[in-house]
Amino acid sequence: MARYDLLVIGGGAAGYFCAVNAARLPPGLKVAILEKSTRVLSKVRISGGGRCNVTHSCFEIGDMVKRYPRGGNFVRKTFSRFFTTDTISWFETRGVKLKTEKDGRMFPVTDSSETIISCLLREAGLYNVSLLLQKDVKVVSSTGDGFGLSCADGSTFSSRYLCIATGGYPKSSMFDWLVSLGHSINDPVPSLFTLNIPKHPVSALMGLSVEEARIRVNGMKLEQTGPLLITHWGFSGPGVLRLSAWGARLLAEKGWRCTVQVNWLPRLSENELRDKLMGMRYSIASQKLYGKNQFGLPNRLWDFFLQQSGVKEDTRWADLPAKEMNRLIRMLNAGEFDVDGKTTYKEEFVTAGGIKPEEIDPATMMSKKIDGLFFAGEVMDVDGVTGGFNFQHAWTSGFIAASAIAERAL
Ligand SMILES: Cc1cc2nc3c(=O)[nH]c(=O)nc-3n(C[C@H](O)[C@H](O)[C@H](O)COP(=O)(O)OP(=O)(O)OC[C@H]3O[C@@H](n4cnc5c(N)ncnc54)[C@H](O)[C@@H]3O)c2cc1C
Repeated sequence: MARYDLLVIGGGAAGYFCAVNAARLPPGLKVAILEKSTRVLSKVRISGGGRCNVTHSCFEIGDMVKRYPRGGNFVRKTFSRFFTTDTISWFETRGVKLKTEKDGRMFPVTDSSETIISCLLREAGLYNVSLLLQKDVKVVSSTGDGFGLSCADGSTFSSRYLCIATGGYPKSSMFDWLVSLGHSINDPVPSLFTLNIPKHPVSALMGLSVEEARIRVNGMKLEQTGPLLITHWGFSGPGVLRLSAWGARLLAEKGWRCTVQVNWLPRLSENELRDKLMGMRYSIASQKLYGKNQFGLPNRLWDFFLQQSGVKEDTRWADLPAKEMNRLIRMLNAGEFDVDGKTTYKEEFVTAGGIKPEEIDPATMMSKKIDGLFFAGEVMDVDGVTGGFNFQHAWTSGFIAASAIAERAL
């Protein structure tokens, strides 16, 4: 049976970051990564549309924690040990420069996730981290002076320390082997998805987007304001993805069926909107309603709202009937859409749920139940919205676990 100082289960972002740092820091541990598939860092490769959104240019922990629908309190503590600034300099020290986009997302200047992968693989080579592929760990047992592991292919391993970095699992039963260690989980549900609005005429406007819309779920305390994109199946865009993340659990309980209200002009109250429309009946009385609008909405969307409100094609502002105007106000201010189902967001999706953070010490990432057992990354119930926040948690937790393990081994 091969014995290591540290075994890391899972060759993803968190597992690699833990492994390479634990092997590098004194005393220089003998480390191996056990990966069940035939490839490592698969999510890093496809992340951010192949560009890898490594982190976010947010340099205040207080602001940063607001981007984590689950685990905000936990990352508040871990970020005080390894933050975005540390990620940026860790990669920069190794020749990987990051750039910031307008919305704060940070990518390698090469715009290629391969740059991040090569950097991690190079580090692993430099510090002799062993990589064992097709090792699907099935059983972990605590042996008193470490851990014993058995894989699906019958191979066995042992180590003094163990870091579990297996990422999110979509089904509760997939966590059974970790639960049998004595840990408990919050049930997994998907996060970061788009909303299906089947058979609604709005989908004819696919591709149109508005810079700022407020989307609210009826009967739930759930709302987000941000860019909204109309797709051929429903609604997407950053505002919708944020809503899906914050509402991941509530929406799952409802089977992703609900009614959403969209305010397409969230900067105007209903009364302000009414006053504005009333004013336009005088100020541009002879102009037709169709074809252009003064609200900055795409004209095709505006025409759609007019149509849905029953406004006739050639109506001039002076002749807009009160009934149609009221319907238009309702459409613009609180248009209702029935959601039935979700669609996975291809650019970035995560699993909410996993090992309960309260069972892990944020100062070391060590289990509060089993000495020498560490966790890193998405396997725990910590997840962020889109924008580089999920990788930041992977780097942070991986680094803290590595430092704590190295320190104990000294
Ligand atoms: C398409 C897509 C794009 C994304 N883009 C971004 C982005 O740009 N920015 C961002 O911040 N986040 C992004 N994310 C989220 C981010 O990728 C994850 O949060 C992050 O990869 C989690 O890292 P991890 O190491 O914890 O888990 P993972 O990357 O999931 O790695 C876990 C590894 O463990 C292995 N494993 C699991 N069970 C076992 C076992 N029993 N034995 C051995 N090995 C096992 C798996 O095969 C896997 O390789 C994206 C996600 C997706 C799906």
